[in-house]
Amino acid sequence: AQSSKPLTFERSAEEIRRNAQWIAGGVNSNFRLNISPTPLVFEKAEGPYLFDVDGNKLIDYYLGMGPMILGHNPKALTDAVTEQMQHGILFGGQSKVEVEAARLVCEMVPSAERMRFASSGSEADQAALRLARAATGRQVIIKFEGHYHGWFDNVLWSTAPPLDAAGPADKPVPFAGSKGQLPQSVEGLEVLPWNDLALLQQRLAKGDVAGVIMEATMCNAGAIHPAPGYLEGVREACTKAGTILIFDEVITGFRLGAGGAQAHFGVKPDLSTFGKAIANGFPVAAIAGRADLLDMFVSGGVVHGGTYNSQPLSMAATVATLKSLTPELYATIGRNGTRLMEGMRAVFDKAGVKAVVTGYPQIFHVAFGLDAPARDYRDLARSDKKAYVAFTTALLQRGVRALERGAWFLSVTHDEAVIDATLAAVDGAVGELKGRGIL
Ligand code: PMP
Repeated sequence: AQSSKPLTFERSAEEIRRNAQWIAGGVNSNFRLNISPTPLVFEKAEGPYLFDVDGNKLIDYYLGMGPMILGHNPKALTDAVTEQMQHGILFGGQSKVEVEAARLVCEMVPSAERMRFASSGSEADQAALRLARAATGRQVIIKFEGHYHGWFDNVLWSTAPPLDAAGPADKPVPFAGSKGQLPQSVEGLEVLPWNDLALLQQRLAKGDVAGVIMEATMCNAGAIHPAPGYLEGVREACTKAGTILIFDEVITGFRLGAGGAQAHFGVKPDLSTFGKAIANGFPVAAIAGRADLLDMFVSGGVVHGGTYNSQPLSMAATVATLKSLTPELYATIGRNGTRLMEGMRAVFDKAGVKAVVTGYPQIFHVAFGLDAPARDYRDLARSDKKAYVAFTTALLQRGVRALERGAWFLSVTHDEAVIDATLAAVDGAVGELKGRGIL
């Protein structure tokens, strides 16, 4: 992926401009807009690589925004889906393959006594909130600043608020993420700063909170670790208050390890939601947890639907993915991800660049201008984001594609050679940005 001449992306830019006459903005998600130098158009993908319409071969750390833990186009998965294709695409009923997928989820996830499939993380989160409210007969859900739980009205609050409109740190003012969002949709939602146990304990003590939803370790905005004892304290406070604890494991599930963040930290939520790595790129999500809560879909009057839930092709992809998630796979990603994180720290140190690289070998982030790793969203929001965008742009011109906002995702196909090529690009990008006075 190394090249002495910067890669160019003119064909992508041209196509995006042309495609905008049919597709709003030339992209099908707002999170793919405003990418520097242009949103890209791809022709194919293989292992750790993407191939775009300009003929560039890029090392990919987006990984489809997280799902592709096995890398692009793994044979076990494409074979399984091709085979399922011979038997049917959608039954409007049950199939053997979905039972196998569900059994694997329940075996792998510590808190999963029972589960249901959905088609996106956003939907799975909605199902979890509905269960929490129905089970407790209470309304209030607590979410945390900088945590993302999908794009629907009732949760798209304070996901990335500008600090000057976010209110006091210990009492954030809910900030709407989108125009057109029903202002009343914030009713029944309260926003707190994450990693502050005392504030949460205080709020829960009133006894009127239905559920607490959080990323058990922040990943969507950037990888931030829970403070020692925080998750255990949250668990205890929720139990005491009769509040349902929901871990949004859409990113961490099957990525931080086979049992997700809950296994990694040894803390059991009542409900958790999954997506992304569960099916290596197929549109699959899940809600899992206590049997008595999930059974409210059966006899508790709680509705959960979805035409495409447990669609057989996606279920074949789920089974193939989950069966591939061996201890060896996590060891490989652990080794190579650590090599990348440490290598990046060495490049920054050598160049005298103030940067923190935090998170996990499977998912980490880089922030410039911070003295110490961020503890919460507001810390992270104070990092030098302009420099970071210049960094990812300089990397892209050197054949490395990393998210402009958020985390680096690794797959099992990012081997030592790929990591070393990435580190050479990081070294080059840092040299360029120092020369331009940006870093
Ligand atoms: N929760 C988290 C933590 C996420 O990162 C995302 C997606 N980025 C979602 C929920 C929503 O998932 P989806 O995009 O599949 O609706």
